[in-house]
Amino acid sequence: MRARSHPPRPARYSGFGLLRRGLTGSSWPPAWRRHEIRHRYDVVIIGGGVHGLATAYYLAAHYGVTNVAVLERGYLGGGGSGRNTAIIRSNYLTPDGVQFYDRSVRLYESLSADLNFNVMFSQRGHLTLAHSDSALRTMRWRAEVNKLQGVDSSVIGPAEIAALVPHLDVSDHPRFPILGGLWHPPGGIIRHDAVVWGYARAADAAGVHLHQGTEVTGIDVSDGRVRGVRTNRGHTAAPVVVSCTAGWATNVCDMAGVPLPITTFPLQAAVTEPVRPFLDTVVVSGTLHVYVSQSDRGELVFGASVDPYPSYSTRGSLEFTEGVAAHVLELMPALAPVRILRQWAGLCDMTPDFSPIMGRTPVEGFYVDVGWGTYGFKAGPAAGEAMAALLANGTTPDLIAPFYLDRFTDGRLVGERGAAAVGH
Ligand SMILES: Cc1cc2nc3c(=O)[nH]c(=O)nc-3n(C[C@H](O)[C@H](O)[C@H](O)COP(=O)(O)OP(=O)(O)OC[C@H]3O[C@@H](n4cnc5c(N)ncnc54)[C@H](O)[C@@H]3O)c2cc1C
Repeated sequence: MRARSHPPRPARYSGFGLLRRGLTGSSWPPAWRRHEIRHRYDVVIIGGGVHGLATAYYLAAHYGVTNVAVLERGYLGGGGSGRNTAIIRSNYLTPDGVQFYDRSVRLYESLSADLNFNVMFSQRGHLTLAHSDSALRTMRWRAEVNKLQGVDSSVIGPAEIAALVPHLDVSDHPRFPILGGLWHPPGGIIRHDAVVWGYARAADAAGVHLHQGTEVTGIDVSDGRVRGVRTNRGHTAAPVVVSCTAGWATNVCDMAGVPLPITTFPLQAAVTEPVRPFLDTVVVSGTLHVYVSQSDRGELVFGASVDPYPSYSTRGSLEFTEGVAAHVLELMPALAPVRILRQWAGLCDMTPDFSPIMGRTPVEGFYVDVGWGTYGFKAGPAAGEAMAALLANGTTPDLIAPFYLDRFTDGRLVGERGAAAVGH
């Protein structure tokens, strides 16, 4: 397929245009359009989260493949992409993992310019605390793997931690004393909705059809090859179908007769009322199963590990709120008067090795970009770019080759549990 040097760009709005709309109240043009479903697409992508939208965008922008549909059951970004805590980092444990996530961090660094849409990426640094000698040992290992891949990551001591985050109790009195930490300056947080909207707007401008309220109810396979999909709005034929359905991946892949080694868990998060800016980094404690960052609005964003049982529920629980509050206060007792404003949950599709599954399946033409667990938002750009290359060129890029589906039968796991369980 034809390579394109300049992706088509959505409309720009000048400062004058903003003022005119503000004063006259004239309505904004929609950021993406509605369409009838075509009888046939070259590529159908199931799932309108960051992965589906990024894949569609890069297909159009890099390869000129625009007869593409993104089918989203609810609204764009209504899955994990609109529910995550927006942590971006690349300080993983395996060389394959570090290389892959580093590519995504680099794409995020230029994403506002690429999409002409401010995604508010704040590289404020990511700090993982060690409360035991064994945690410190794992961090040293991670730091060395990171450095070998050119990723800025090092182990720092309590004095440096106290300077970075003055509200942390670094004395030897707490139940969980802070012995050191893994410091990763390029990590940070982003505005997750903006990433979704930016990719959607750019994909639409390039000619991709974005269909919201469109649920895939069946995948047509015959003679070992995908033929198209059935939806609540009718059938469409497609020689290539990609599942980017995160927490629903097993249900959707079952439609194509492709079983996945995935178990689905809820993951909860919470935010507090806004307080004055005081926290300049993302702070994670694996031992306490908690992390905290401060949003640009001043809210403290709290997260944890997945709920302890598999489920498709997205209800919050009192156990989570109690646990996360108690653990945050172990780290920062000064936060005791701050009130939690709201909590929510999303679904996480966990693989046995805490790494994703990207690439072909035994059904020809049916591809997956799933298994993103609690860590897939940061991966959206690199996964989308690599999946688009695979679909357009027919060759799996080296960057995602280790994440093939059959690794679970071949025994070639990409074990990231030590770096992905809580830190997301
Ligand atoms: C509370 C929480 C905190 C998290 N924090 C982080 C974090 O800090 N950093 C990070 O990197 N990751 C984080 N994650 C994980 C991250 O949110 C996900 O891995 C990521 O959003 C997955 O993106 P996606 O595009 O693959 O899936 P999604 O955004 O979930 O999109 C999949 C879409 O598929 C649609 N769909 C499903 N079935 C069908 C069907 N049959 N037909 C049509 N559409 C269908 C769904 O409606 C959904 O919109 C967090 C997740 C949660 C829940």
